[in-house]
Amino acid sequence: MSPSPRILIIGGVAGGASAAARARRLSEDADIVLLERGPDVSFANCGLPYHIGGVIEERGRLLVQTPESLSARFDLDVRVRTEAVSIDAQAQVVLVRNLRTGKETREPYDALVLSPGATALRPAIPGAEDERICTLRNMGDMDRILAVLAKGGPRSQAAPGSDRPVVRVLPAQQVGVPGGTSRAALPGTALVVGAGFIGLELAEQLRHRGLAVTLVEKLSHVLGVADGEMSFPLQEELARQGVDLRLGRSVSAFEHEGEALVAKLDDGACLPCDLVVLSVGVRPETTLAREAGLALGATGGILVDDQMRTSDPHIFAVGDAIEIRDFTSGDPALVPLAGPANRQGRIAAEVILGRDSHYKATQGTSICKVFGLTFAMTGLSETLLQRKGMAYRRVYVHPADHATYYPDAQPITLKLLFEPENGRILGAQAVGVAGVDKRIDVIAVAQRAGLTVFDLEDLELCYAPPFGSAKDAINMAGFVASNVLRGDVELWEPEELVGLREAQTLVDVRTFQEHALGTIPGAICAPVDELRDRLEDLPRDGELLVFCQVGLRGYLAARILSQHGFKVRNLSGGYKRYAMWQGAQGVPRESEAKGEAGGPASCLC
Ligand code: FAD
Repeated sequence: MSPSPRILIIGGVAGGASAAARARRLSEDADIVLLERGPDVSFANCGLPYHIGGVIEERGRLLVQTPESLSARFDLDVRVRTEAVSIDAQAQVVLVRNLRTGKETREPYDALVLSPGATALRPAIPGAEDERICTLRNMGDMDRILAVLAKGGPRSQAAPGSDRPVVRVLPAQQVGVPGGTSRAALPGTALVVGAGFIGLELAEQLRHRGLAVTLVEKLSHVLGVADGEMSFPLQEELARQGVDLRLGRSVSAFEHEGEALVAKLDDGACLPCDLVVLSVGVRPETTLAREAGLALGATGGILVDDQMRTSDPHIFAVGDAIEIRDFTSGDPALVPLAGPANRQGRIAAEVILGRDSHYKATQGTSICKVFGLTFAMTGLSETLLQRKGMAYRRVYVHPADHATYYPDAQPITLKLLFEPENGRILGAQAVGVAGVDKRIDVIAVAQRAGLTVFDLEDLELCYAPPFGSAKDAINMAGFVASNVLRGDVELWEPEELVGLREAQTLVDVRTFQEHALGTIPGAICAPVDELRDRLEDLPRDGELLVFCQVGLRGYLAARILSQHGFKVRNLSGGYKRYAMWQGAQGVPRESEAKGEAGGPASCLC
């Protein structure tokens, strides 16, 4: 590469802007041209839902850089509204069209970086051409959504034959809309199709604006990347916040009834809506690469090596458009996240300018706020581990985010997945009100560093009562997982309840009061603190399946019982885990609280 190479970058947002800025920091001599089809560069895609909801009030705050500021600081040739039309890889030239003037030029390059991102999927639903049906990918999409909202007037109210009898626009103060009543005239009903990260954020934010929101999801649970029981608390939160969640449903058509737009679901339901946002996923934008003859991977993303080089040595690709190697399994995958895109852009620039940098796979560490709850994960989910046929063990803990004697402690449900052979961390998911990000971030670092569950026991994490516990949630997960691998305790799983044998006895080791509030059907109650006095009452032949509320007392009970010669296993995560499991099967938690699902409480007394 010449000492002053010409670097052409296609796509001026996350990966592209990172590549450009890094290239300049490494070389004052390079000629760096940034081509962006849209009017903006370096904007915060991740912030778009929050401007729609009004949490980020100023649109301008989403523009991390303008073309002018980016040019000025990094001495770049930034060309917005400029589309790369085709690549002649042989001649090392890109055909570029100025979208304002229509003028086309041929731009030579020494190195080309592709960061064209991904395209929002628009499923082929009859009637989906209506201007009120949007997707959300960039500032323009956001503006379109805001324009639909600004048209005002809940037209859907007039729709006859709908199963949504009244438009339920909440008063602004009830949902905390900034700006108060000025939004009272906004359209009343929104339909979000797809409950992935963006769909959930949108549902929350549209609700925040005071709209009645229906969220339709084809899967049986929200957030398909998560395991069903772990996303169940999010479903409860959505319901609590007034989101009308339709799981296992899809939109079969959009129709018009007068002025009203009506979405027809596959169960026959008719939902009038003033705004629809399709949020059903993305596909990597590979048109340019494909037409230039670059190799694509098995997943459909652009194939790159660990230096972001495509099948052409002068062309690099980064971000949502590429196929990455999954950190946990080593398999090819598509993981459209901002952190990886930024790092890959940086690495491409470094390699182009002579550094021996390498990209070290993607873990998929991600996080989402759903009203008062946070969900985060890293590594693979249990669902994916199963699909890949990888051996794993799982434990659940529900510790508090900080010392319980300090005000406002909140439980975190943490699921840890690890290799049975050696305790290598395979993945983790957490959901709770506070402290979820910290726990998943620490586990993400541990996984990347190759630590095992035994190392989690030893991690020294910051602690004072307002912030954590002397035994942090991560230590607790490490203790439980290590106990399992060391053989200190054996676990049973809620799935086993389906084929429970006569020789197995369910033992609830919580207090009689807790037991009376709801238990697993058929369980007897033997509180852990009285267990040593009641050993004679427990069956010695067969197996005891003990459980408590969150798993800790069950563990203590299992240790007592096993040392007295009983065959015993504990339910990791306890009754709380059982309730989440039941929730994921479609059994509402409310009925358990009343003791209905738990059946009549029976005690060993
Ligand atoms: P992009 O940032 O999408 O940039 C691609 C650019 O290339 C586009 O501006 C496009 O106009 C331009 N382009 C494409 N083709 C051409 C062409 N032929 N010529 C010229 N220009 C072209 N990730 C997270 O990690 N956390 C989040 O919270 C999060 N929230 C998100 C919320 C929303 C609403 C969206 C849409 C995405 C979110 N993401 C989030 C994903 C994250 O934004 C992407 O992973 C990241 O932006 C990908 O970077 P990229 O450079 O590959 O593509």
